[in-house]
Amino acid sequence: MELATCPVCIDLMAKPCVLGCGHSFCELCAHEIVNLNDKCSVCRRNARGVCAPNLELEKLIEALILPLMDEERREKYERRCDEQKRKILRKNKLRCVIWSEVERRLPRNPLLLDVINRCKEVCGNSEDVIQEIREIFAREIFDNDLSVFSVSGDEQDDGPTLAFKEAFAGL
Ligand SMILES: [Zn+2]
Ligand SMILES: [Zn+2]
Repeated sequence: MELATCPVCIDLMAKPCVLGCGHSFCELCAHEIVNLNDKCSVCRRNARGVCAPNLELEKLIEALILPLMDEERREKYERRCDEQKRKILRKNKLRCVIWSEVERRLPRNPLLLDVINRCKEVCGNSEDVIQEIREIFAREIFDNDLSVFSVSGDEQDDGPTLAFKEAFAGL
């Protein structure tokens, strides 16, 4: 049981996913690590972009742990699996909104352009570096403004809120 506990949410792993370092988490927790923190919560190794379903562990949970649960706990677990799928979709959509907003605003942000130009000088005309900066910038905005969106499982999506737009107005 302990082996199937997610180190982030300390609950039974829902749809376990494995990072490049080999550590596993719930699908939602793994996505958060890959998209926001970059580093595995257990070993601190770089976890960028690598997140695959851990099907073996999922099968083990289904075969060995779920049958031992009472019906109520099992239903709760299944609900968590469904909910996190919706949350991941929602967050991915949100990232796309933020990404396009960053792209749209990039040419109008002298500070950011200055940083990119200086990086170009230092590193040569490396698209990777520019991409990296854009990602960091998008992530910053995502981190700071996630709270203005309701991500608590309701289906409706109103797009960016006024608070979100106001936050962008300061850039
Ligand atoms: Zn978790
Ligand atoms: Zn790790």
